[in-house]
Amino acid sequence: MTSYDVAVLGLGAMGAAAAWRAAARGASVIGFEQFTSAHARGSSHGGSRIFRKTVFEGIDYVPVVGRAERLWAQLEQESGATVFRRSGGLCIGAADGELVRDAMRCADEGDVEIELLDADALAARYPQFAVAPGDVGVLEPGAGVLDPEGCIRAELDLAKTAGAELWFETRVTGLRYDEDGVRISVGEETITARRAIIATGAWFTDLVPELELPLRVQRSPLVWFAGADHAAYGPERFPTFIWESGELDGWGIPDVDGRGVKVGAGGSARKPWLEHASDNDYPIGPRDTDPVQAFVRRAFPGLDPVPVAATPCMNSKSPDGDFLIGVPAAAPSLVLAGGFSGHGFKHSAAVGDIAVDLALDGASEIGLGRFSPDRFLGTA
Ligand SMILES: Cc1cc2nc3c(=O)[nH]c(=O)nc-3n(C[C@H](O)[C@H](O)[C@H](O)COP(=O)(O)OP(=O)(O)OC[C@H]3O[C@@H](n4cnc5c(N)ncnc54)[C@H](O)[C@@H]3O)c2cc1C
Repeated sequence: MTSYDVAVLGLGAMGAAAAWRAAARGASVIGFEQFTSAHARGSSHGGSRIFRKTVFEGIDYVPVVGRAERLWAQLEQESGATVFRRSGGLCIGAADGELVRDAMRCADEGDVEIELLDADALAARYPQFAVAPGDVGVLEPGAGVLDPEGCIRAELDLAKTAGAELWFETRVTGLRYDEDGVRISVGEETITARRAIIATGAWFTDLVPELELPLRVQRSPLVWFAGADHAAYGPERFPTFIWESGELDGWGIPDVDGRGVKVGAGGSARKPWLEHASDNDYPIGPRDTDPVQAFVRRAFPGLDPVPVAATPCMNSKSPDGDFLIGVPAAAPSLVLAGGFSGHGFKHSAAVGDIAVDLALDGASEIGLGRFSPDRFLGTA
């Protein structure tokens, strides 16, 4: 029976990156995806994701996003695809609010170029935004938009070219492991590997129920809006944004593909929790779009608050909002890469690479303490 160095379970954002990086390092790689390449049933579809280095989620994310930035450039160079468009990115909120404070701190500690705009400067530079008096904006000129499907396709193409075996429309149905390796069940077949990288996104707990990871799945829609002046919302004139100011709580991405501005409501929108990822197959309804429309109505007078398109998406959320990246003490042949909690895509090229560090070398240069799965397993 052929045995592989690395098996990658799930070929979405994290798994596609892991397959690319493992194959590029000369490992023998097999990857499994239950659906097609760059499908629209998980967490990584919809044509755009924000890339920003002001990772206000915490300073431990700075080296991860730094490695990701280098890998996105390398991906473009090696594949010939354009996956990133610079638009600038704003964090908007009260000058002494958490978002602005954390964005500034991260820019300072991570040496990220930023510009602080007061309400007048914001209104002058970006008249599309109805900024409240007293709000400020942290502008990161180097931020922009990643094309998630384009990234995943390019990574999988490069993985294949480097010799990875990738099985699509193939659901992994079982996983057994000990310290020497893993046995993966795919229907009647069993495949063995020295290490498995688990990158199954919103399905994360299915294959490792015995670890009892406290990950939950949250439905989160992607909703697009348009205005009469289309040019005002393209990436040349409209930045990505995260906005947390009183009742204004949302995020958005410029119109990169003619579909309109993509907007989402923030944490206050009380998005529904799902029993299981497979429950996210019901159509978009008012519970999805009402909070986003309310935000757009207040924040963007030039956009029609009736959406032009909407589609469901979902996130795998950890209780503390931080990622799970690491080898659990209880399962030394597994590398877990899950719980990306709504802010994972920008990091995904690096997460795949770090997972490969762990699978092939047993360690990574990136500090992973904050992301250790063992923090939920009683062995941290
Ligand atoms: C509405 C929304 C907006 C977002 N915006 C941003 C943003 O602007 N910037 C940002 O950085 N992040 C953003 N995110 C977060 C980011 O998109 C996710 O963190 C990231 O895409 C998660 O990637 P993943 O690889 O974990 O999951 P996925 O990409 O869903 O990959 C998991 C894969 O595993 C496969 N799989 C599962 N089980 C099996 C099995 N048993 N056998 C075989 N295959 C299996 C699935 O089919 C899937 O393809 C957003 C998320 C949402 C929902």
